[in-house]
This record gives sequence, C-alpha cells and structure tokens, in this order.
Amino acid sequence: TKFIQQLPKIELHAHLNGCIRESTLASLASERNVKLSSLLHDLQQETHFTEEEKMNESPQEKVNKKRRSLLECFEIFTEIGLCVTDLVALKQICIEALEDFAKQGVVYLELRSTPKVLLDTMYGTKATKKDYIDTILKCMADFEEQDQERYKREMEDVKQNANASSQSLPRLPMTCRYIVSINRAESFEVAQEHTQLAMEYAKKSKYVVGLDLSGSPLKNSFTELEPCFRMAKDAGLKTSIHCGEIPCEKGVDNETDDALIEFSYRDTKKILDFEPDRLGHALLFTDEMYEALERGKKIPIECCPTSNVMTLELATHYEGDLVHGLRRHPRLSKWLENDYPCSINTDDPGIFNTDSSLEFLLLVDAFGFQNPARIVSIVMDSIDHAFESDDFKAKMTGLVTSKINGIL
Ligand code: IMP
Repeated sequence: TKFIQQLPKIELHAHLNGCIRESTLASLASERNVKLSSLLHDLQQETHFTEEEKMNESPQEKVNKKRRSLLECFEIFTEIGLCVTDLVALKQICIEALEDFAKQGVVYLELRSTPKVLLDTMYGTKATKKDYIDTILKCMADFEEQDQERYKREMEDVKQNANASSQSLPRLPMTCRYIVSINRAESFEVAQEHTQLAMEYAKKSKYVVGLDLSGSPLKNSFTELEPCFRMAKDAGLKTSIHCGEIPCEKGVDNETDDALIEFSYRDTKKILDFEPDRLGHALLFTDEMYEALERGKKIPIECCPTSNVMTLELATHYEGDLVHGLRRHPRLSKWLENDYPCSINTDDPGIFNTDSSLEFLLLVDAFGFQNPARIVSIVMDSIDHAFESDDFKAKMTGLVTSKINGIL
C-alpha cells in the first residue's frame, strides 16, 4: 500500500466535475438550496466519518466501499450542475481536484471538462465559456507554481539533512494539462463551438492539449460529430473518444435493445476507423473489434477500473465486489499480460469514491501482481500516451524513474 501511495502516477482520464469532493458538493448544495437526491444519501453519511476513521480502513475496505452505478452517475452530474453554478465554485472544485490528485502522487494530470456558461457573482453577470476555460487554466498555472516552489523547498531541506534516505525524497511536482470536452448530449453547433475553443486555446496556451468526446453513451453519436474531430485532428490537436460503454453485440445483457446494439456497433466502428489518439474505456467491444485493435494500431486505452466495473455491473449483473467485478473486464488481464498500451485512471473520483492509489490497489487485488516492476511498467508506458511532446515525455520519464528508484 505504501509503495502504491508513493508511486508517481500518470492520470489521463478524469472529468473535472466528477472530481468534486462529497463535502464540497454537500456545502454548495446547501448554499444554493439544492436538495440532493436520495442517490446522494450515502454521501452525507460518509461525511460523518472522521479523517482518522477513514485512514484506519484496510485497503480491502477502501476498495470495496459502495460505489455508484453509471446511470446513477449521470443523474448525479445533473445535480452537480445545479451546484457548480459560478466561477467561484468552479475554482474551488478545480483547486481541490488538483490537490487531491497531487496528494496521491500524480505527476502528470490531464483533466477534462465541458466548457459551460456560468455566473460571475463578482459582477452579477454571465461568465462565458472562455471564462470557464480561463478559470481552469489559471488554477493550473497557480497550482504548478506553488507545487514547484514546495518541491524546491523540500529538496533543499533534504540536502541539508545528511541522514535523509532516498525514501524521504519529496513528492514530485505535478504538471497539469486540460482537455476540452464535447458532451454527446449537446448539439452539433455546441460541439463545433468547443472544437473551435480547443483549437484557439491550444495555439496560445501550453495547458490545452486535446479534445474529448464524453457524456451519456445513449445520446447522439460520434458519426454526426466526426467532422469536429477531423477538424481538430487536422489542426494538430490530440483526440480522446469515449467508447464501448454500451454493448456492440447481442447476448451481453438482457436490457440493451437490438436497435441500441446496432447503433453502438456502427458508432464504435466509426470511432475505430477514425483512429483517435486514445480511447476512453473501450469496454464492451466485440471480439472482432478487440482483435483488430490488438493486431493493428494498438490505440492506447484509458482504463478506469472502478468506473469500468460499474459499467460491467449494468451489463453483467456481477454479484460481488469491485475486485471480482474487475476480473470480469473482457480484456484487461490479457492487455496487461501482453503489454497492450493502457493507462490506469480514476474517471470520476468524487463520484466513484476512489482515487489514483485505490485504482492501482484494485488492479493489484484483482490480478495479483507480486512484482512491483509490473505496476511500474504500467506507469512508465502511460507517460508515452500523454498528449505532450517527445521531449516532455523523455524528461518526465527521467524524473519518474529516479523517484521510483528511490522508493523501490
Ligand atoms: P465535466 O465535463 O467537468 O462537467 O465533467 C462531468 C461530465 O463528464 C459528465 O456530465 C459527463 O458528460 C462526462 N462523464 C463523466 N464520466 C463519464 C463516463 O463514465 N462516461 C461518459 N461521460 C462521462
């Protein structure tokens, strides 16, 4: 557990509003008189636990705490939207998300979020989507600056303490990047607007590195939105697309109707033909799709263990815990065995009640890695999937390697 806690990590798939702390959601809701639905009752009970009680939980208890289903999540996102209504709240959830990832040893974070029109309470006016993006980028720049200063200070202390062991080397500073999201549920015009914003910001800010397609998999299709992603790709922007969240073939569950399966099959094919730089989840493909991926381009997959189990729960009604649920992932164990490029991510840590260390603990519990080198290689490989330059990746690899050598 300590090794995983200290391990430098790469987080490539996290949705900003899905990172909201439960306590923050509860207080924003009460300030705005929003009555959170019964789905969130657990949340209020959990806030009665003291920090000490939480610390004393065994890794197994932590891993197996009640999580929410994917459908519940989409209801919760609507409620979060009623609470994160202005730039002050946005800034708060963004700073807290950065702090939470850094605390788990994340050294490189790509955070994604759908730009929204909020309120600017300072002036009592509407805040534009550019204000939304500017607020996130400012939080990232300020955070990086403070984290770099902290690192320098702590390194100085280590140098002055002749007895310090390599184990006590400070946490590496975290680099932050932002991916603009398109929510499937919104119109083509909005998707175009977000594509333009991503392209415009990528030109002037090092923080904006890509375009994502997310949102409820039941809404709209990639097929309609493909021109946006093509435009972004042509402009040199990296792309990540959610896929495989609903079955692409019959027999996976009893709930998805034939029309939806047919739609999912065609849409997933389109996504694979487009060849985005990374795929989000890629969970419920057909064998033929998986085999084509594995033989062909080997597009890196953003795997989100807890979230994936929740999706599988809907599909297969697994009766057990997260560990058994993850063993039902159709491909993960094979990918790990064959070094298929996949990173380990949190997706929505605030909603799934997880964090970057817990996701690795879950992986270890499910697949029984005895050798830390196995975990290390997942981290090292995922540096290569970052939406960053080769130069940047080489430097990050050097930093992470020296930190890992210190803790092994
Ligand atoms: P936001 O973009 O910062 O508002 O983050 C929350 C949004 O991310 C949700 O409203 C969804 O659109 C998207 N999202 C979060 N988790 C998932 C997922 O598992 N699948 C698809 N979309 C998701």
